[in-house]
Amino acid sequence: VRIPSKATHQQTREHNQRLILRTLYDRGPISRADIARETHLTRTTVSDVMTVLFDRGLVEEIGRGRSSGGKAPILLGLVRDARLVIGLDLGVETFTGALVNLRGELRHVVELPAGGCSGEDALELVYSLCDTLMRAAPGQPVGIGVGAPGIVDSAGGVVRWAANLGWQEVPLGQLLGERYSLPVSLANDSQAAALAAFVFGEGARTANLIAIKVGWGVGAGIILGGELFQGDGFAAGEIGHVAVVEDGAACSCGRYGCLETVASARAIAEHARQLTLADVRAAFEADDPEARDAVLASGRHIGRAVAWLLGVLDVHRVLLHGSVASAFGEPWLESVRDEAGRCSLPVFSDEASIDLAKFPSNVVVLGSSALLLTQELGFSLAR
Ligand SMILES: [Zn+2]
Repeated sequence: VRIPSKATHQQTREHNQRLILRTLYDRGPISRADIARETHLTRTTVSDVMTVLFDRGLVEEIGRGRSSGGKAPILLGLVRDARLVIGLDLGVETFTGALVNLRGELRHVVELPAGGCSGEDALELVYSLCDTLMRAAPGQPVGIGVGAPGIVDSAGGVVRWAANLGWQEVPLGQLLGERYSLPVSLANDSQAAALAAFVFGEGARTANLIAIKVGWGVGAGIILGGELFQGDGFAAGEIGHVAVVEDGAACSCGRYGCLETVASARAIAEHARQLTLADVRAAFEADDPEARDAVLASGRHIGRAVAWLLGVLDVHRVLLHGSVASAFGEPWLESVRDEAGRCSLPVFSDEASIDLAKFPSNVVVLGSSALLLTQELGFSLAR
């Protein structure tokens, strides 16, 4: 017989709170009785948790529902702008930040050009982005969520390696936390995007999800059992620098033949002998054979990576996003699907849906906010 310890009581309380928040989020406005039915919690437990949520200003009464004989029940919902999070995306060309509410709505978006900015300068740019958003916030934000390219240690709040920022072992979490006295969450940008799909987007009803970003870099974010899976070293999904071609081209990481050298936006542009992705797109639409080869080869390589991911994880929901996915759409997606199907057992490929994500443009901002919300408010619980 296991005697429940204090810790497990605490965990149960937190679990219940997350469950109720998630139900309010998905089903609100909703009555206390319906929350109890949905969550299989007792009405007493629901009422206790509600008192806490009211005290924290997270829940409000929205009106009355239909009566089933007796008194019409009070309907409850999350207070949309009760809490705002600062979400940041430290992208290659642009640093984007926004105030994001509990519904994942962006309230105030700020973009700063970051091309060529690295090291200490990049850090100063992050500060000026946060300063602007702090000034714009109506109250104290819940915290700061940051999506950064490269390898990010979420637990330690350290950007371990971000080539385009020229950062190695930068304790960004600590630096921001001390400067603004707020909790800070960090994740890799592909992981943040997967979290955005899971918390706010089209992956919201699935416990398991893979979102693959194919842009200037290639990386996957993996949600397993309703949680962002980061692996032992926080680099889970970092598939862009796995070598896939014998004697392949030199990669930005210093090695050869990585997935990025054949599937990324840069690789496509180089193979198609064009300068920008927009140029490749124009050539592709004009049926230029080199552009077609480059784009479809990218799709095939991503398809093979998908086959491996399906074989390892048996996840049914795969979303593709990033500049390559949005530039070449269906024809590129078809080559991903064909190759994924050709390279895996029907038991995997028949069950899996591989689609283009219908992400909003600021998906990493949204994802980094989602990360902060999951950690501070517990929104990530699987249904
Ligand atoms: Zn590489």
